[in-house]
Amino acid sequence: MTPLDAMTDAPRLPRADWTRGLERSLLRQLVDIVARPGVLSFAGGLPAAELFPAAAYAEALAEVLAEDPWALQYSPVHGPFRHHVAGLMALRGTQVEPESLVVTTGAQQALQVIASLLLNRGGQVMLEPAIYTGIQQAVAPLEPRLLTVPSDLRTGIDVDAVEAHLAGGARPAFLYVIPDGHNPLGVRLSLEKRRRLADLARRFHLPLVEDDPYGFLTYGAPDGGPATDSLPPLHALAPEWVFYVGSFSKIIAPGLRLGWLAPPEAARARAAIIKESLDLETSGLTQRAVARFMDRGHLPAHIERLRATYRDRRDRMLAALERHFPPEARWSRPHAGMFVWIELPRGVDTLALLEVAVAREAIAYVPGQAFAVRGHDAAHCLRLSFSNCQPDRIEDGIRRLARVFS
Ligand code: PMP
Repeated sequence: MTPLDAMTDAPRLPRADWTRGLERSLLRQLVDIVARPGVLSFAGGLPAAELFPAAAYAEALAEVLAEDPWALQYSPVHGPFRHHVAGLMALRGTQVEPESLVVTTGAQQALQVIASLLLNRGGQVMLEPAIYTGIQQAVAPLEPRLLTVPSDLRTGIDVDAVEAHLAGGARPAFLYVIPDGHNPLGVRLSLEKRRRLADLARRFHLPLVEDDPYGFLTYGAPDGGPATDSLPPLHALAPEWVFYVGSFSKIIAPGLRLGWLAPPEAARARAAIIKESLDLETSGLTQRAVARFMDRGHLPAHIERLRATYRDRRDRMLAALERHFPPEARWSRPHAGMFVWIELPRGVDTLALLEVAVAREAIAYVPGQAFAVRGHDAAHCLRLSFSNCQPDRIEDGIRRLARVFS
């Protein structure tokens, strides 16, 4: 009992064992620091709010409500919405039956569904040592053992290491990968590695979780290669082993809370039941409004606008890093997504230096340690986001940030 409990006689609430280690994520704790007034933030993984298609979406929503009062009822997944999502996946280069899709409340819920479906309590998950915190949170209640595989900043996850683990007898419940626009590493998985992962999945019966919220936000190589050089998703290479996760958060808006899961056919029915256990259904109103928005043909032009805007911001950030960052720093050169990952010499403590960056230079970023899987060290790394800052402030922001690390 703490002294406070003793004084107030507060009852001790029982709680599940797994919550004992639960802390507010480092990322959330940083929100207060990085949101100080006047601070230029490269921290949040936020889409550019000025590009939200609010007017077109409002129109679609108003039409749906005016025409169809059933839009507010409990209802099965909206058929036309399924077809639109299958159409998006076709554009992404892979085929799904509309009926096989599980519509979810954001990609995050799809990750939860997958964790419930594939992972036993105390089971094993294979992932990279610095990885999107949402997957760590999705598996945490099942107290998994985390088997980590390194990644390199040019070609992505180390497939030799994946193979070595599998050949050595490891049988993780799944391998989690973000092939395009990796969060936080900003790396793209090479085609050769995609093919090899698909082969390994088949050979070792290894489910692959392909998290693809940034798959449409592709900009081409930073050094002036073709602007559309998308690689096939893993789903196209091994559909019977891939749990593909998609999202409207980055191509329309995160406030919609709309995503989907394309599971292997054999897992579809169970995935749908688990989804239902979490929140019954994903807003039918939102599904209908998005379907109407897509019927009107708004999405392709909107995605083009996002790509042009983010491509420009990426190019400015990479050019500024080249000019101002110390030569011993290394960083990813993203083809897609919103993030650049920077590795400084070991010994630099980016968490401690965040206070300095904010107080002295009015710049915020996310320290690498916020993404580190338990037991791993990313203290000398940081993640910068280029999506949500005004282009004319990027150069000066990076110049000021460089002073913190020089
Ligand atoms: N996966 C990754 C890699 C992400 O970066 C994010 C959002 N930052 C999500 C999933 C969650 O997306 P959603 O808003 O669709 O839940």
